[in-house]
Amino acid sequence: MGLMAGKRGVVMGVANNHSIAWGITQTLAAEGAEIGLTYQNDQFGRRVRPLADKVEAAFLEQCDVEDLASVDRLFETAGRTWGSIDFFVHAVAFSDKNELKGLYADTTRENFTRTMVISCFSFTESAKRAAALMTNGGSMLTLTYGGSVKVMPNYNVMGVAKAALESSVRYLAADFGSGGVRVNAISAGPVRTLAGAGVTDARLMFNYQRKHSPLERTVTIDEIGRSSAYLLSDYSSGVTGEIHYVDSGYNIVSMPKLDELRA
Ligand code: NAD
Repeated sequence: MGLMAGKRGVVMGVANNHSIAWGITQTLAAEGAEIGLTYQNDQFGRRVRPLADKVEAAFLEQCDVEDLASVDRLFETAGRTWGSIDFFVHAVAFSDKNELKGLYADTTRENFTRTMVISCFSFTESAKRAAALMTNGGSMLTLTYGGSVKVMPNYNVMGVAKAALESSVRYLAADFGSGGVRVNAISAGPVRTLAGAGVTDARLMFNYQRKHSPLERTVTIDEIGRSSAYLLSDYSSGVTGEIHYVDSGYNIVSMPKLDELRA
């Protein structure tokens, strides 16, 4: 019996087979979970449908978090399909790539607001709806990045949104704890995905972190998937409000290795 046997829930944020949400979906499916998937719009839908078939998804719903009616429809579908749910994964982020370069100070009000709504507030709005379906308790997860707590070149407004997202994790964990609903985040190291490529010079950051993390490599979406299975299963039943780093240990390092500096 898999770790997630008998558990049912929603994963939001698969765009293609490189998505972190896809790594999570595959692991949860392999561990016996029943999963409902979403796609942002028709363009993504074409790529997500064959992936949904692969994991025998219980449903595949269009959901754009800028359109609250589509978020409502998603959780109505989950409720109609299962009655209650056990887990929810939010792996959604967006910012104008023209502002994921240069100075943070140049962020426009329009992009700041849109980035915050899609990358941060959408978790709160979805979590509220997911929690209402977690009548037997449950576990939620969102995805963040270390640019929330330390300055990463070009990450800019996305770092500010991730800081707010991490704070939301703690507030939601406090809100829902009495109902046995846990809320956590994985802070993943850099992964080559569509969203990851939106940050200017992402390749340089990727290579730098690979070189300077204790494990001397980056992480795979399968590794993030396996950590998510821990946080979404009963193995982490005493854990809530946590930001769990899955980044080859990069976040503990304060300077390059001495060999590097001597060279
Ligand atoms: P990805 O491009 O595969 O996934 C991002 C998803 O966000 C896509 O499925 C996209 O459709 C969805 N999305 C964007 N705007 C949306 C909207 N308005 N409504 C609904 N969905 C919307 O990239 P990814 O790297 O797998 O990103 C998943 C999460 O992981 C994001 O929160 C990202 O910030 C986070 N993350 C990524 C990295 C990395 O290096 N790639 C590192 C740490 C955290």
